[in-house]
Amino acid sequence: MLHVAGSGRFVFARRRRAGSGGSVRIGVSRGDVYRVGTGQTMADKRHKRVSDFIEPFRVRPGSKVTLGKDFDPAFKAGVKKKKQGVALLAEGVRLLSEYQARLAAQDTWGVLVVLQAMDTAGKDGTIRHVMSGVNPQGVAVHSFKVPSAEELDHDFLWRYAQRLPARGQIGIFNRSHYEEVLVVRVHPENLDRQKLPQAARKGDIWRRRYREINDWERYLSDNGIRVVKLFLNVSKEEQRARLLRRIDLPSHNWKFSAADIAERERWDDYQHALSEMLSNTSTEWAPWYVIPADRKWFERIGAGAVLVHALMEINPEYPPVSKAQLEALLGVKEALEAQAPEGAAADPFEEKSSDGDVEDAERRETQTPPQQAAG
Ligand code: AMP
Ligand code: MG
Repeated sequence: MLHVAGSGRFVFARRRRAGSGGSVRIGVSRGDVYRVGTGQTMADKRHKRVSDFIEPFRVRPGSKVTLGKDFDPAFKAGVKKKKQGVALLAEGVRLLSEYQARLAAQDTWGVLVVLQAMDTAGKDGTIRHVMSGVNPQGVAVHSFKVPSAEELDHDFLWRYAQRLPARGQIGIFNRSHYEEVLVVRVHPENLDRQKLPQAARKGDIWRRRYREINDWERYLSDNGIRVVKLFLNVSKEEQRARLLRRIDLPSHNWKFSAADIAERERWDDYQHALSEMLSNTSTEWAPWYVIPADRKWFERIGAGAVLVHALMEINPEYPPVSKAQLEALLGVKEALEAQAPEGAAADPFEEKSSDGDVEDAERRETQTPPQQAAG
């Protein structure tokens, strides 16, 4: 620990310039600093609250899932009104933004968000709302369609591996490698196009794919890519209403696809393939979360909460500044202050923040000096 005489803010004002790119916030929120009650921090409490909220969505590894029976698409987890939900989503979006900045600064973990759903379940809207507060430079969304000729010339995980997030990044798969055990299973002609050698088609190919996917995800999590899997669970009746809406609203006509109607006819086959997928690929290292999707506002809170929770577990930190680096910064600070023109504040930032009109909250957050690496 490095202590700079008297003032946490003093440390803060210097550390803030140590970030790699511009204004980098110190990743300790007030709640993380102030202890409440019995030695539990606000952050501990928040972590617990989010964990409890998402627990009903989590598919326990090893459990056998029957989607239609085990998960209610209209579940609201005690959130009574949409209005209440809007506030919760805003909190989630704010937390995501803060965690994403820390994730990028730490540059150790990447996060892969896997989104699967039946048509109209709201994948696009969920991405748009949940990620609305996040720096676009830190996020990449990839959609996977019917595989191209080039993709079919490779092993089945190849195209997904090409799109994995880097460390510090959040990658979103809008459809994912799970299509390889969903649409490919429901429509086996897809498998015929995959040019597999005879031996690779023998036996229970789905069971083998589950194992291969589990192994791949384990490899990723062991190497710093956290896999967060969300199934957005819409009911057949709500899908019917949403398809009709696409027909009734001229501005939504473009979204309507006759193929969606054909897929709807295979509803039961998909529910079966999905149940098998959830039963076989929810693991300790990459569990599935089934998010109730009949109410879009709830779906977004649920998806956001699972992602926030994953980031809380990673708990990325801004890189610490060594004593030597800090001393170098202080030297530069002195030189810059000496360049102040006649009548100007030596350090305009410090001036403003001590007036309390700029980033007041941020300043308060750091009144307890953050962890410093020993020089
Ligand atoms: P959309 O997401 O509505 O643009 O549709 C993309 C289409 O690509 C869906 O009909 C998916 O079922 C299909 N698709 C995605 N991945 C695969 C895959 N691996 N094999 C075959 N079809 C796929
Ligand atoms: Mg579609």
